[in-house]
Amino acid sequence: MTMHTIRDKKTSVVAGGAGFVGSHLCDALLAKGHRVICVDSYLTGRAENIIALENHPHFRMIEADICNIQMIDEPVDQVFNLACAASPPHYQADPIHTMMTCVQGTANLLSIAAQHHASFVQASTSEIYGDPEEHPQREDYRGNVNCTGPRACYDEGKRAAEALCFDMFRSGKVDTRVARIFNTYGPRMRPDDGRIISNLLVQALKGEPLTIYGSGNQTRSFCYVKDLVTGLISLMEVQPNPGLPVNLGNPSEFTINELADLVLELTRSRSELVYKPLPMDDPQRRRPDIVRAQTLLEWEPTIPLEDGLRMAADWFALALRNDLPTRSRNGSSQVGSTVLQF
Ligand code: UDP
Repeated sequence: MTMHTIRDKKTSVVAGGAGFVGSHLCDALLAKGHRVICVDSYLTGRAENIIALENHPHFRMIEADICNIQMIDEPVDQVFNLACAASPPHYQADPIHTMMTCVQGTANLLSIAAQHHASFVQASTSEIYGDPEEHPQREDYRGNVNCTGPRACYDEGKRAAEALCFDMFRSGKVDTRVARIFNTYGPRMRPDDGRIISNLLVQALKGEPLTIYGSGNQTRSFCYVKDLVTGLISLMEVQPNPGLPVNLGNPSEFTINELADLVLELTRSRSELVYKPLPMDDPQRRRPDIVRAQTLLEWEPTIPLEDGLRMAADWFALALRNDLPTRSRNGSSQVGSTVLQF
């Protein structure tokens, strides 16, 4: 009998497990009875996201950058790769590291999955469609990416990572699955994340002007983090392997101006709107076609934007009140006494 069959728990590696989505995934996998090994460099992940798990008997933290990780010293059944800065200002802050995280980091994790005969879910992104010329975006749309622009480190890095995953799949080396994640929001986003929902909620709660880039007529489709996590787990578990990328996102589409109005209403804020220049290559419209996820995974989002935004607003209000400090990259703990659990 192999180690795999005598172990009573599945072991899941969550790379990026201290991040916004990754920490919710760690919670969900532990709740399913898995052992969870979280790998995070704390570049954008935060120790307070997983502090409630630190003493969990089936949780293990490995502080490492996936660009350097070579092995996991215990049996592994599943690898989820969510390790990468995902907010435009964060992934553009060190674009070469972003590209290497996508390519070298994913290659390292695929090699670990191959060593353990583990299944693999790659967190890809709607960014691989670039500024799309087809709407909504189906998985067979090949995208419109500026391969030399400021977003390329992430868009092209994630495209290369998808190519790696499908080559590993076709060559029979790793049971890889690829999720194309559309805009996701919820508790545990960094207040300084820089993306639209965290920016608007933090600004509204602080009574500061809401920053709208461009006309505000560009659209996004926002998925609450719990819905996304359910989709990621379903994609890992579905049999047989779809062998195709799967969009995961909420197809309800909003303009940025509509989102700002909703934020003002929910937070009862009187903040004004200030219009700033649109960043280069900012996609004008984005909305997932989720027929593949509905068909193959029997998955679709359940939480409407208004409900999710309310939960996110409550969390940000608490986080701002407690002025939650962060743990620095070298791991020295400055975590306060308040633990927020969702
Ligand atoms: N955006 C904005 N104000 C902000 C942050 C973002 O108007 O404070 C816009 C941004 O230009 C884009 C949309 O909101 O059109 C979503 O941006 P985000 O960075 O959240 O994610 P993206 O989908 O661009 O990766």
